[in-house]
Amino acid sequence: MNNDSMKIPQATAKRLPLYYRFLKNLHSSGKQRVSSAELSEAVKVDSATIRRDFSYFGALGKKGYGYNVNYLLSFFRKTLDQDELTKVALIGVGNLGTAFLNYNFLKNNNTKIEMGFDVESSKVGTKIGDVPIYHMDDLERVIEEDDVQVAILTVPVSAAQSITDRLVKVNVKGILNFTPARLTVPSTIRVHHIDLAVELQSLVYFLKHYSEVEEVE
Ligand code: ATP
Repeated sequence: MNNDSMKIPQATAKRLPLYYRFLKNLHSSGKQRVSSAELSEAVKVDSATIRRDFSYFGALGKKGYGYNVNYLLSFFRKTLDQDELTKVALIGVGNLGTAFLNYNFLKNNNTKIEMGFDVESSKVGTKIGDVPIYHMDDLERVIEEDDVQVAILTVPVSAAQSITDRLVKVNVKGILNFTPARLTVPSTIRVHHIDLAVELQSLVYFLKHYSEVEEVE
């Protein structure tokens, strides 16, 4: 993201890709403007939050007119589209990791999984969805040579912290952690944690205990 986006609150920044994807669709269907109610319905974010988010981008919707799609799109393009592709490595080519390798992230943004790593010899040296799989022994060398900035962790929980320590040493800036491990990293590294089992449990809990759907930020 460019420097202007630094002022945007993190919760807003997280919603940007969602807005961006929807606005691109609107634009390609020839729509010039969109109301916050329409946006709200489509992206399932309440319209007060949308209005507040958009006010950070200097996009003040006019009553009875809504937002100018082109203006918003050019803002999002500038903020979200980096000139360079962000290189991503996936570590742990098991069931989940393999699914990610087969999924084409490039469809929606500027990130690409460039390589996978594993310890199992049957996987090393193969390609999955065009992505080469390397042995963990080569982690530091390959990551440094290719200037990889982001790693996705889909390894067993027991291996997560020691792999993270190695990633930190080779200057990986961000880790998307799909393991249940709570990782310890220096403050310069950003970790986003997605624990699918916890998310599922939390969904079931909400279904059981809250009959009305409330906005949870
Ligand atoms: P998943 O959890 O993705 O469904 P799985 O059940 O097939 O995968 P896991 O035991 O969770 O297997 O391991 C995920 C992958 O991580 C496997 O391919 C395994 O070989 C690999 N792996 C295990 N230990 C390490 C390690 N220390 N470094 C890198 N990869 C590892």
